[in-house]
Amino acid sequence: MREIRLRAKAKINLGLDVLRKRDDGYHEVRMIMHTIGLYDRIVLRPSENEGITLRTNLGFLPVNGDNLAYKAAKMLMDEFAVREGLEIELNKYIPVAAGMAGGSSDAAAVLVGVNRLFGLRLNKEELMKRGRQIGADVPFCVMRGTALAEGIGEILTPLPPLPECYILIAKPPVNVSTKFVYESLRANELKEHPDIDGQIEALKNQDLLALAKRMGNVLETVTIPAYPVIGRIKEKMLELGAINTLMSGSGPTVFGLFTDRQRAQDAYEKMRAAGEAKHVYLVTQGHSAARAMETQV
Ligand code: ATP
Repeated sequence: MREIRLRAKAKINLGLDVLRKRDDGYHEVRMIMHTIGLYDRIVLRPSENEGITLRTNLGFLPVNGDNLAYKAAKMLMDEFAVREGLEIELNKYIPVAAGMAGGSSDAAAVLVGVNRLFGLRLNKEELMKRGRQIGADVPFCVMRGTALAEGIGEILTPLPPLPECYILIAKPPVNVSTKFVYESLRANELKEHPDIDGQIEALKNQDLLALAKRMGNVLETVTIPAYPVIGRIKEKMLELGAINTLMSGSGPTVFGLFTDRQRAQDAYEKMRAAGEAKHVYLVTQGHSAARAMETQV
């Protein structure tokens, strides 16, 4: 049977700056985005039944046009008048509403998969352009790797990859609304901005320590006071030997970078045992056997 298996990978922000709030309400950002080896699994199959059917392992997610995976498939299939039906099997491992672009990544993977499955012959740029209509993070999720995102997040410039390291990821059991975070941010009054240019330089020099030293996310000024558990997880990761830690996107997921494998593994175990984070993962960056481990405390 014709079917396509996809990995929809999560992202973290190594740096996130908001330059200003525009008059139209959008925020102008400068972010360093990075794809990590933690992913949802998606299977696409053509179906004799008309339309799109979506099944997922998370019962609380929508299975209609409100699901970004469904929305992406429908957009492309409508545009190219695909007559066959489509089955989407979505197995989620990326935490939902976590600041890791899970939904955007599912949409991106489905765009790539539908293009291939039905022979639509769109290239990467054409898929990225269509992704923008679904969400600001979708073009990056199609592109993948490490990139500078500017504008409202849609202007992408590829960067050299994050050097080899271990990334510990921990998500506390709180729900953070991206809308709340951006609305509460006093973008035009921020006193400190992360050194994004310094981070770009560090990536060009493949200098992990210089990059880590400059990690910063202005959204922490809103999210940490509102959810102190985020600050506690950051402290814990530093105690456990992370070279630096940061909240990803609008949170609440926190990640820490480690240079030493054993230390990262120990930190992973201790983070799980500490119980403040509901999901804990350890992913490798730039090593051949990238594996994601998950636990639910
Ligand atoms: P970002 O980092 O882009 O802010 P996020 O990690 O905060 O993304 P998502 O997990 O992408 O957030 O999804 C947030 C909301 O989108 C959820 O409330 C969920 O109901 C809805 N949603 C729609 N489609 C999906 C999907 N395929 N996976 C996860 N959430 C989805």
